[in-house]
Amino acid sequence: MSGRSPSPRLSIAIGDYLKAIWLLARGAADAPVATSAIAEHLAVSPASVSGMLARLQERGWVTHERYRGVTLTREGEREALRLVRRHRLIETFLIEYLGYAWDEVHDEAEAIEHAISDRFTERLAGRLGHPTHDPHGDPIPNARGGVPATPDTPLDLVDVGETLVVSRLTTQDAALLARLDRLGIRPGNGVFVMARDRVAGRVRVRVEGDDHELGADLAQYVQGEVRDEAES
Ligand SMILES: [Zn+2]
Repeated sequence: MSGRSPSPRLSIAIGDYLKAIWLLARGAADAPVATSAIAEHLAVSPASVSGMLARLQERGWVTHERYRGVTLTREGEREALRLVRRHRLIETFLIEYLGYAWDEVHDEAEAIEHAISDRFTERLAGRLGHPTHDPHGDPIPNARGGVPATPDTPLDLVDVGETLVVSRLTTQDAALLARLDRLGIRPGNGVFVMARDRVAGRVRVRVEGDDHELGADLAQYVQGEVRDEAES
């Protein structure tokens, strides 16, 4: 193994654990993560999670308290953020430069993120214009490990007559992302709320000049920032 990275290359499995713990903790306001949640996320048995956590703890990357759960140490978090940064930059590159579709990028990124150096990662970031968010609107950690803020007001809370500027689609499901994309509901676009039926859970919106009716099945994944003035 060459020494091009400042810290030694992690094994693929270790990296995947650190990333999973980081993602799960972030989804739960940084609370300790249950081992069962890690097992489910990585589709492995609880017994193999316990074995790996012992190794991670030995290396100083996690603290694991029985009945409380797992927390990344500062060191562990730094490694997780390096991988998340790589993953999201690679996905951005595949979509923007290589014509990949939503549902094709994740597995490619999983494989590539373990093979590239920090130097390659930063060259890639430069070529992409140092994006702060990937095409889903997920924040890309910066090279110092900071995570850019992302507006997260759900579309469900937007009043009639207001516009939500979409920042993020909170699903990784390719079919749902494709449906939202066909409606023009993607990061950067404004979604003007025309009418809402609370009982039926439906909302009527105008996006890029076209009107659409959204059910809760789609609307629940749309987040952003409310822009006050009505759509002109
Ligand atoms: Zn991915």
